Amino acid sequence: MADSKIILIVNCGSSSLKYAVMRMPEREQLGKGLVERIGLEMGHLEQKANGKVYEVNQKIENHKVAMELVMKAMTDSEKGIIKDTKEIAAIGHRVLHGGQYYYDSIVINGDVKKAIRDCFDLGPLHNPANLMGIEACEAAMPGLPNVAVFDTAFGMAMPEKAYLYAIPHEYYEKYSIRRYGFHGTSHKFVSNEAIKFANLDPKNAKVIVCHLGNGASISASIGGKCVDTSMGLTPLEGLIMGTRSGDVDPAVLQFIMNKEKLTPDQMLNILNKKSGVLGMSGGVSSDFRDINKAKEEGNHLAEVALDAFIYRVVKYVGAYVAAMNGVDAICFCAGVGENDIQARKIICEHLSYLGIKIDDKANNVRGERRVISAPDSKVKVILLPTNEELQIAIDTYELTNK
Ligand code: AMP
Repeated sequence: MADSKIILIVNCGSSSLKYAVMRMPEREQLGKGLVERIGLEMGHLEQKANGKVYEVNQKIENHKVAMELVMKAMTDSEKGIIKDTKEIAAIGHRVLHGGQYYYDSIVINGDVKKAIRDCFDLGPLHNPANLMGIEACEAAMPGLPNVAVFDTAFGMAMPEKAYLYAIPHEYYEKYSIRRYGFHGTSHKFVSNEAIKFANLDPKNAKVIVCHLGNGASISASIGGKCVDTSMGLTPLEGLIMGTRSGDVDPAVLQFIMNKEKLTPDQMLNILNKKSGVLGMSGGVSSDFRDINKAKEEGNHLAEVALDAFIYRVVKYVGAYVAAMNGVDAICFCAGVGENDIQARKIICEHLSYLGIKIDDKANNVRGERRVISAPDSKVKVILLPTNEELQIAIDTYELTNK
């Protein structure tokens, strides 16, 4: 048996710090917590472990202070997760953008921090917060290895024909404009686990992962290596999402901007925050449960939004089957993919031309890892709940336990 180690997983937003503590390689979650409203008037920390809740309400000036509170919470004698922070062997950080620098997770040093900083342009909301989290951990627990797990790393395996846009090449050279893909940690986890779970050929298995949540993306991979993915330079491209438009004719933007006298930032805000099923449904909701309910109550626009969402998933799956000249397994994950039984059924019915047959009884479940296709289906369809935290723990453990 490999050495058992405790890994801390950290995911920092601009005003939040999410964390979890896991024992690896046992994949045992020991506890988790969330610090919110960092830098605001009143901050909040909530930690859950062993059925006990630990809470703090106080002003939390910055991520460094947040990390100090997390250390106190983790080691609380009554409601804590561990006895001493010395038990932690390594810290894994979710980092949004690794630009063209990183094809995989990496132990953080000065060069890695510089690269994360160099990518502020590409991930302006997340990368600065991710770096703050890393520096807060370095200050709070000096000497411990920190590992960066990039959301873009999985997509870096794509070939040029998939990642280059058909725009003048100078923009790629000058600004690194290309398809990066996001949700990479989820796509990596689900595609790798699917290969093991369904006993597929680890070198050649063709797998499509449908990560359908509030943010949604699809990836195609061969032998666990990404060959294409639907998100692009930013998470705006591809599928219709809760509030994001996904693919749109770029000329539409100029047309609307001229008519409505909008700046580029205002237009992008509309595409990111007011579009998707929220926009298409005429403002019903970005939450797919509300959209489903409105459809049942006869709301036509909600019905169209759902149809369009599913239609786009089916189109992407078809494109990726063509791109790979086949598919061995199609996986569903994230909020909608794991819970919306009806959406999975309709998507799979659209794919009957591939010889896919869904097993209605097997599909009648939420959030449980299982094959949901019939035994005689030509392609395996797998419900495989994603676990980005676990993937961060796996990478951190592997990189620091060599
Ligand atoms: P995520 O971003 O992965 O957390 O997914 C959030 C989305 O999953 C929200 O739009 C939820 O409405 C959706 N979701 C959660 N449960 C269900 C369900 N039972 N049916 C349909 N959508 C669901």
